[in-house]
Amino acid sequence: MKRYQQAYLLIVVYIFIVGFLILWNPIPRIELNGDEEITILLNESYQELGAKVKSLSQKKIALKIEGNVDSTKVGDYSILYSIEYKEKTIQKKRIIKVREQEKPMIILTGDTKVKLCPNHEYQELGYEAFDNYDGNLTDKVVIHKLKDKWIYTVEDSSQNPYTTVRQFIYEDAEAPSITLQGSSVMTIYQNETYNELGYQAYDNCDGDLTSQVKVSGTVNTSVVGVYELKYTVSDTAGHIAEETRVIRVTPAPDLNGKVIYLTFDDGPSRTITPGVLQILREENVKATFFIINHDDSLNYLIRQAYEDGHTIAIHSYTHNYRHIYSSEQAFFEDLNLMSTKLESITGVKPYITRFPGGSSNTVSRFNPGIMTRLAKELTNKGYIYFDWNIGSGDAGGVSSAYEVYQNVTSSLGNHTNVVLMHDFEGNYYTLNALRDIIHYGKNNGYTFSNITETTPQIKHRIAN
Ligand code: ZN
Repeated sequence: MKRYQQAYLLIVVYIFIVGFLILWNPIPRIELNGDEEITILLNESYQELGAKVKSLSQKKIALKIEGNVDSTKVGDYSILYSIEYKEKTIQKKRIIKVREQEKPMIILTGDTKVKLCPNHEYQELGYEAFDNYDGNLTDKVVIHKLKDKWIYTVEDSSQNPYTTVRQFIYEDAEAPSITLQGSSVMTIYQNETYNELGYQAYDNCDGDLTSQVKVSGTVNTSVVGVYELKYTVSDTAGHIAEETRVIRVTPAPDLNGKVIYLTFDDGPSRTITPGVLQILREENVKATFFIINHDDSLNYLIRQAYEDGHTIAIHSYTHNYRHIYSSEQAFFEDLNLMSTKLESITGVKPYITRFPGGSSNTVSRFNPGIMTRLAKELTNKGYIYFDWNIGSGDAGGVSSAYEVYQNVTSSLGNHTNVVLMHDFEGNYYTLNALRDIIHYGKNNGYTFSNITETTPQIKHRIAN
């Protein structure tokens, strides 16, 4: 054999031996029955599936199986399979996953659809997460925050996921509001200065908007009249708030006015009011009626007086001193009843009022200070109360029409004369004196007028 042939043969033999040794692996190995990873349900018992030892040798090799599965507890358990071979340990592992199937749960505090002001961020109201197996999982909640929603996710120890969402709707649904300081109806004398008392504006989304309030309208205090100031403000969303303040500019008390304001309290009545209206119509004189509640069958007289151009004013619904002066609440409930009734008859809300007994009454002294409080609150609500500076005495103390005539005409002066009379049932003295009183006034340079919101306010000194 030639030398190269020997070498060639040697290489072939070598490759053959190496190949044989590789294929004929003498090292034993472990082959598991079943998968290397098995999932079982909680409390389901684990059945060991065992393993086979693959070996070329005829010698039996002992397989050791170690490890425990506690199927009453969620977790990952290892079972270890091992054999000894030539002082070496060969191992294989199987993972048993014990799992439960019930999902955890997240409960959101507050709404799942939340309305937010544009450009406001949601302030978390809270949440709680529970799982049947793990108990409280609140700490494990992960929140993914997006602009239009927050996604809350949690997983229990068995990797069961739960997801819930809180959605955000960005909108400003509320209009702003304007709060006027001071009364919304004010009365000032001619040529006085009007001082703006101020205002505040607030919006639920934009916050304080006071600096953006626009005031429109003017008050010309040199001209008697009723003026309106309009306060408007708009929020970013375009909602508009509007408030109005009424400013009455009334003539300053004129000592040479020579005006007579005839006022009739406690009516209407079936026997007196029609005659009073008749005379006033014939004499073309406007007067003022301070009305109390009567049978609705007399409502036509109120309507008639209103249509004739007289002023329909509030006196009282009950005219019961004990009741109306017992509290502010009782007073205004009574006033509102009368106001509502008059408005339903005439279609106009009355603003002129007269306290039963006048603002100087002492019958209310069982409730100290009530008149002071009522006079203030009444004015704040926009009402104007009128007392009188001429009493006719017709509510008692006179015994003839002539006495009524005398009482009135002897007290008239060169100023605003507010005459207190009554058109209650059976008051014929007044009915019979009325035309003579009017004639006296006309013959002595007086004019007659009904009380309006711009009439100089005649009021007594409050005694309680
Ligand atoms: Zn009265």
